[in-house]
Amino acid sequence: MRPVRIDLYSDTKTRPSAAMRRVIAEAEVGDEQAHEDPSVARLIERCCALLGHEAAMFLPSGTMANEIAIAIHCRPGEEVITHVSGHTYGSESGAPAAIAGVMMRPVSGPRGQFDVETLKSAIRPMTRHSPRSRLVILEQTANLAGGSVWPVDRMAAVVALARERGLALHLDGARLMNAAVAAGVPARTFAAQFDTVMLDFTKGLGAPLGAVLAGRKAAIDDAWVWKQRLGGSMRQAGMMAAGCLYALDHNVERLAEDHDNARRLAAGLAQVRGIVVEPVESNMVFIDLSATGVTAGQLNERMMAKGCRGSVMDDKRMRLVTHLDVPRALIDEAIQIIGAAVRGA
Ligand SMILES: *Cc1c(COP(=O)(O)O)cnc(C)c1O
Repeated sequence: MRPVRIDLYSDTKTRPSAAMRRVIAEAEVGDEQAHEDPSVARLIERCCALLGHEAAMFLPSGTMANEIAIAIHCRPGEEVITHVSGHTYGSESGAPAAIAGVMMRPVSGPRGQFDVETLKSAIRPMTRHSPRSRLVILEQTANLAGGSVWPVDRMAAVVALARERGLALHLDGARLMNAAVAAGVPARTFAAQFDTVMLDFTKGLGAPLGAVLAGRKAAIDDAWVWKQRLGGSMRQAGMMAAGCLYALDHNVERLAEDHDNARRLAAGLAQVRGIVVEPVESNMVFIDLSATGVTAGQLNERMMAKGCRGSVMDDKRMRLVTHLDVPRALIDEAIQIIGAAVRGA
């Protein structure tokens, strides 16, 4: 593998720092699935307060948390409404169908978001012929739609309609802390409105492993059956929970630096002839290369030759994600590398 010095492929590429590794090595541990791990217990307590929920569980991944949430809210044959760009719809290997046996009803709207009218028209009539609309999933931030942040008001309006119609609500909060920092509101302002919420520690928070699923106690009790069933019940998971606790202590406020760096990267790339930059709301910069004469794949090849990597979405579109392993000096270098690569140098 060629060395990647400036890895803007994703914030999943972060590596645990020396200080985080020390905390992991020294963690107090026990048997997680018997509720005997003190570090996991601390993380859960912390996340309940952070997210405004009664109960929570520690899981190996955000995907497992999302899929468990779908399974506890829905019965086979029922329908889940989410945005067409959503992770549960397009990036979880068909698990909603394979695991929970549900139908997905993707809806559209700018920036990975949708409004009350769109939700209204996606809710099925209550007839014997229609699948029953059961669950609405929102993604905060909306990853493939530019890392956009659902505004508090728009989210509340969609949530209110879902409640009025008796639908369950799940928040895919893989990057919820980015949204909280970007919007300047506590994470629970978003999270507490939902029946369940997933928070991932392996994105911009920089931990090597772990996600939590939070909700009411009855929901998390149901979720334990699925955690066990899917092989997500663990043993001395406190080592990983310690990394997550470290991330909450040290890596949340600093997300603002990633957002600054994303804006800096966007401003720099906007100066390159032909590149069109989508609006930046958090730690993601999406660029459209239609007018440059190079495809995203070609651009990435040229970038890789200089040790810099982005994520190719399709022929025209590239995603660049800022994170704690890409300091500002490397952002400036990335602008130079990408500019030169577009010009064919
Ligand atoms: C990464 C991601 C997930 C899944 O998390 P993993 O921990 O990688 O399984 C879910 N939703 C969104 C929006 C993500 O970006």
